[in-house]
Amino acid sequence: MKLSKEILKLTDEHPIKLNQLPEIELKQGSLKSIPEYIKNKNFKHIVLITDANTEEAAGARLKEEIIKAGLQATIIQLISNHHGQVNADETSLMQVMVETPVDSDALIAVGAGTIHDITRFCSEKLSIPFISVPTAASVDGFTSKGAPLILRGKKQTIQTCSPIAVFADTEILSKAPMALTAAGFGDILGKFTSLLDWRISHLVANEPYNATAAQITINSLEKCINYADEIAKSSEEGILLLMEALIESGLVMLILNFSRPASGGEHHLSHYWEMDLLKNDAPQLLHGAKVGVATCIIIDLYKKWSETINLGLLSKEDTYTENLREHWKEIKQEIDQLPEAQWLRLTLEQVGAPSIEGLNISEELVKRSLNEAWKLRDRCTGLFLINRYKENEISFSVHSPFLEK
Ligand SMILES: [Zn+2]
Repeated sequence: MKLSKEILKLTDEHPIKLNQLPEIELKQGSLKSIPEYIKNKNFKHIVLITDANTEEAAGARLKEEIIKAGLQATIIQLISNHHGQVNADETSLMQVMVETPVDSDALIAVGAGTIHDITRFCSEKLSIPFISVPTAASVDGFTSKGAPLILRGKKQTIQTCSPIAVFADTEILSKAPMALTAAGFGDILGKFTSLLDWRISHLVANEPYNATAAQITINSLEKCINYADEIAKSSEEGILLLMEALIESGLVMLILNFSRPASGGEHHLSHYWEMDLLKNDAPQLLHGAKVGVATCIIIDLYKKWSETINLGLLSKEDTYTENLREHWKEIKQEIDQLPEAQWLRLTLEQVGAPSIEGLNISEELVKRSLNEAWKLRDRCTGLFLINRYKENEISFSVHSPFLEK
């Protein structure tokens, strides 16, 4: 994949060097390039981390190709839990640590987000590099360093390492279950609100902002919206575009070494729901599916906020309040420019992403998350500010969220 000129510009502006970014091959048949790459790196023994589905989709074939090239390959198939799911938790991390042979030179993550997070963590701890082989265009985290893990039943993101290379084969990606592709699309649509929240945090809380990074993320978002039809069909063209957008968003996070452009209030809601599901031992939902739904809720909330806010009556007098008043015109303008949540819901539906009812997230949980999710991260977002100045609980109903009741 050719890196866009904006990505090159961004690396110029940051300490990270171009040769520290993963090598990326995104095309049809890129799986076949892996043995050659491994040989050039002088790796002899490779461990593939899979689950039952991804072993069938790509892992078994990749192992054969590596062995055919005269190298050694071992598969570690992650064991699923009683929900039939693999989680990035102690059990999976320990399985990889225990089963990785001592003479292994590199790991390959063959799968979607969770398998990448497990591999990324173990790669860092075992001090051997890892290669990314996504089997679905489902998240934007393939190239990032952050590994969201479930430790002692709680979700926490640990900074680990990024892959040395990504081999994304569009033939494999386009055969992934539609729900995974739709989740990738949902994760991209989340940028509508994550970008706005980044802007708000810059204007109100003086957090660092980078216009080039924002522009790259906007470009990715626009491309995906324009190609929603192709993505919905899972055509190779649509998948290529979606994957390119997901990879670029991940690269931005990697270069800036923080996730602000790609994660705002919508991700906080999604994390809150995830933690609630964990607490109740319920099956996990796809990250991007939650983000898509949460983005629509956040848009509704922000639009309502901008209509009802009374700048003269804000309950606290401090720098945040001063900054909010000073920059409100710009913030309001950006909120006005957000698409209508209803349009976004239809677009998500078009690619097969679930609605809030489809996710089976209760109104009560959404309401609780609207009031509490801002506490999860020490970040200034619209959601944080609404909570900061609210006089009553934020209420929520599936049909129309209201700020206060
Ligand atoms: Zn995300």
